[in-house]
Amino acid sequence: MPTDPEKRPSQPTSFEDMPLHPTIRAGVRELGYTEPTPIQSRTIPDAVLGRDLIGTAQTGTGKTAAFLLPILERLLDHPPGRILALVLTPTRELALQANEFLDKLGRHTRLHGAAVYGGVGMGEQERALRGGAEIVVATPGRRLDHMSRGYVNFTNLEILVLDEADRMLDMGFLPDVRRILSRLPRRRQTMLFSATMPPEVVRLARDFLNEPKTVQVDSTAAAAVGVSHLALPVPTHLKTDLLVELLTDQTMTSVLVFTRTKHRADRLARQLTLKGVNATVIHGDRSQSQRVKALDGFKTGHHRVLVATDIAARGIDVEGVSHVVNYDVPGEPDVYIHRVGRTARAQRLGDAFSLVGREEEDDMHRIEQRLGVEIRRALIPGFDYKRAAPDRSEAGAGQFRGGGGRRGERRGPPRGDRDRGRGRPPNRGRSGGASRPAAEPRRERRANW
Ligand code: AMP
Repeated sequence: MPTDPEKRPSQPTSFEDMPLHPTIRAGVRELGYTEPTPIQSRTIPDAVLGRDLIGTAQTGTGKTAAFLLPILERLLDHPPGRILALVLTPTRELALQANEFLDKLGRHTRLHGAAVYGGVGMGEQERALRGGAEIVVATPGRRLDHMSRGYVNFTNLEILVLDEADRMLDMGFLPDVRRILSRLPRRRQTMLFSATMPPEVVRLARDFLNEPKTVQVDSTAAAAVGVSHLALPVPTHLKTDLLVELLTDQTMTSVLVFTRTKHRADRLARQLTLKGVNATVIHGDRSQSQRVKALDGFKTGHHRVLVATDIAARGIDVEGVSHVVNYDVPGEPDVYIHRVGRTARAQRLGDAFSLVGREEEDDMHRIEQRLGVEIRRALIPGFDYKRAAPDRSEAGAGQFRGGGGRRGERRGPPRGDRDRGRGRPPNRGRSGGASRPAAEPRRERRANW
């Protein structure tokens, strides 16, 4: 990982120089980390001293360790068996992942973590809480459920972390978070981490932070680094067809596709499956076991495509996501940054494609403004952009119909065989000859495409 350009003595460039106990450094070493990431080197030295913090960095840049390592360091010598740190996360997957990560980082310490999240029975979590976990990683709702049962004691709590703090402090979570905060000791260290930190969230956060140090590793620039972005204008009714077309590219090995709603996610996963694409789906309405199964299937490569809504995607940390596809363009530029952060994690290269319906162009422009870049538009050569809308009943069943004949027959060789640059569309058409963009339906034509 690159080191922070602003090297100051307080920003160590190696874990050996970090103010961390050798038992903790051993956990770091075993994970194969050699250098701290910028957010880690800029926050850990202050965090281990107990200072409040607001840390902003692009997703996938090592924020989790940036708060777990100081937690381990600060609690190392505390008497065991009492809850000393609470990490609140917006999703079950994030809670599970952070807790698993904690197990690894802290495996040479005697500190224990417990993950507490909804969608599963309370029994096992109650046992973990009663069993003396010192660090609890929880989603707010489930946290409150356990608190109301009386066996959770926070009087010794020393550290509170809000992971994905922008989300934790939005209207959906804020009431629960406030209720939890009201039951925590006032004297404590509080740390907020997020990929984006809108000003209103910072204002809100200052109510319960004490002279926080603010660290910002440029999130917009980070979103642009390592990810090549491409916008693919397409009539809305042809989005699924275009996605199937894109997926003929065999370099798209592990593809995360975002939709606006749970319903659209389910429908798209069904359509892809019917088209022979090995796809699964994850969103907030699926049971915990379904979510775990879908994520595991995607992580192990069994499923090539994971269709997700934003809330479910927050917790997804999958090594080697090759592509992120915005099946629906998000209305918020920050959501785009979160999404594309799922690829290029830990400095890998990754492509982000956005299928842009006409009505989504304004959203796309706002994203470009936020990123400060112009995202290249491209049409996929050979793709029939003029096809009529499919019959609604058939669309639901995943059929594609139209003037272009049956898609399976029309499709060319895998795009891996074609001369395709990273993040660039194929520039050699299959049927139409060199670099001729596909014909564009008149009603989709816009000057800025
Ligand atoms: P996070 O932003 O916490 O979700 O981390 C993203 C990915 O980066 C995870 O897979 C971590 O295991 C990995 N990671 C965190 N810290 C480092 C580091 N210092 N060096 C290399 N990889 C890291």
